[in-house]
Amino acid sequence: MTEEMTAKLEQLAELQKKMYAFNYASSSIYLDSATVAPKDTEEGRGEALAILSEYGYDLATRKETIELLEYLNEHKDELTPHQAREVELLLRDNEFMKTIPVEEYIAYQKVLSKADYVWHKAKAENDFESFRPVLKEIFDYNIKFAKYYKPDQNPYDTQLNMFERGLTMEKCDKFFATLREHIVPLIKKICETSKNETLPVLTGFPVEKQKELTKYLMDYMGIDPNHCVCGETEHPFTLEFTKDDVRITTHYYEENFEFSMYSVIHEGGHALYELGGADEHKYTAVAGGVSMGIHESQSRFFENLIGRSEAFITAILPKVKEIFPKQFRDITPRMAYEMINKAQPSLIRTEADELTYCLHVMIRYEIEKKVFAGELSVDDIPAEWNRLYKEYLGVDVPSDSEGCLQDSHWSGGSIGYFPSYALGSAYGAQMLAKMREDIDVEAVCASGSLKPIADWLGERIYQHASMYDPEVLFEMVCGAPFDPTYYVEYLEKKFSDIYGV
Ligand code: ZN
Repeated sequence: MTEEMTAKLEQLAELQKKMYAFNYASSSIYLDSATVAPKDTEEGRGEALAILSEYGYDLATRKETIELLEYLNEHKDELTPHQAREVELLLRDNEFMKTIPVEEYIAYQKVLSKADYVWHKAKAENDFESFRPVLKEIFDYNIKFAKYYKPDQNPYDTQLNMFERGLTMEKCDKFFATLREHIVPLIKKICETSKNETLPVLTGFPVEKQKELTKYLMDYMGIDPNHCVCGETEHPFTLEFTKDDVRITTHYYEENFEFSMYSVIHEGGHALYELGGADEHKYTAVAGGVSMGIHESQSRFFENLIGRSEAFITAILPKVKEIFPKQFRDITPRMAYEMINKAQPSLIRTEADELTYCLHVMIRYEIEKKVFAGELSVDDIPAEWNRLYKEYLGVDVPSDSEGCLQDSHWSGGSIGYFPSYALGSAYGAQMLAKMREDIDVEAVCASGSLKPIADWLGERIYQHASMYDPEVLFEMVCGAPFDPTYYVEYLEKKFSDIYGV
């Protein structure tokens, strides 16, 4: 290796370490704001974040960075596959960032830091009007940035690609049409039965007891408590500093133990993905999950395909009975399974059952698509939201708090993210079919530890972090391209059995 190349590679490592430190600082501020920071303290954080984002922008777009990346890209043949991937990922980010004028980038970061607070308040007070101007700014910035980045491409396609490389509206439309065609009639048949009325409704779960369940579940999943802990926030999330320091959060409701239970399993799935990255990716652009679709495939794999399966529920029921003896005294494994899988059109996405869930996602996708196309103004989002809930789920939306203000994504600037949830669910179903060729999944669920399942996923997915694009990785895992029929067939089989339809 030439002396010049050695020096350049040192610069590359140094650049990525600095980016890591910048992300670490921003994430710490975010974690603090979502967990323990007092209510009226967002101003100071906003200032600090704006300065950090300016620094981050400068680091990613300054002349020396671009020259370094271009030099290394021209000498690709001399790089290891890992180094080449680092350069490729950094160049992709750089291409996006450099199209945005710095003033606009910083102004947008300020809007985002304000938006979180405005959205929380608007949701609590059922006041869309107070959130509307900020939401409009966020949509406008995202549309503008997408057009700067890829002037010749439909801006919503560009947006989808930021979360799932390779995804387009055409693919989404086809995918959602397949789901709609199969799921809507099945939900209709289920609603015609009186089964839901016979399922027990359990209440009164002390938070301290629920925390015991959290610990048990994380242990069952094989999550190392020395590298991952669970905190409490309004909305559950996963945040990774490094592969050795991952945080998950949940929210406890006394009347609804399932919310926290399945939040922990879901976020635990994200955490396993992050914790399972190989050491060589640490402090580089390759660290961390490759896309939101793949990430959601891992979280929803554990939440639904495993966590809501009869085998898993049967296996953990004795422990659940031990923690909540009064509530679960007369509950049999089959009753618990049916209760947990109660399918019912509802208002809130995060509380939706596995079957109706994708329809919630579809509604958000259609709204985003229309706003990006200029066919729907932000002012009219509440009305369109309510109309689509009636059309797809047959429910009336009583307030914007339970309607278009329910999710945190838009206030965080994540437009184009929602389809990853549905896509991830469907990826997972195909991965499960592949896993069954090697593992007796039901036997593992009953064994007291899900580690063999996590190990299977770890070998094929986690360890690679962002080495491969999502489509490539998916085919490496499944040996075939993505096919939504696995997911549709899984749902039809499971819910036809439970409801006898
Ligand atoms: Zn998730």
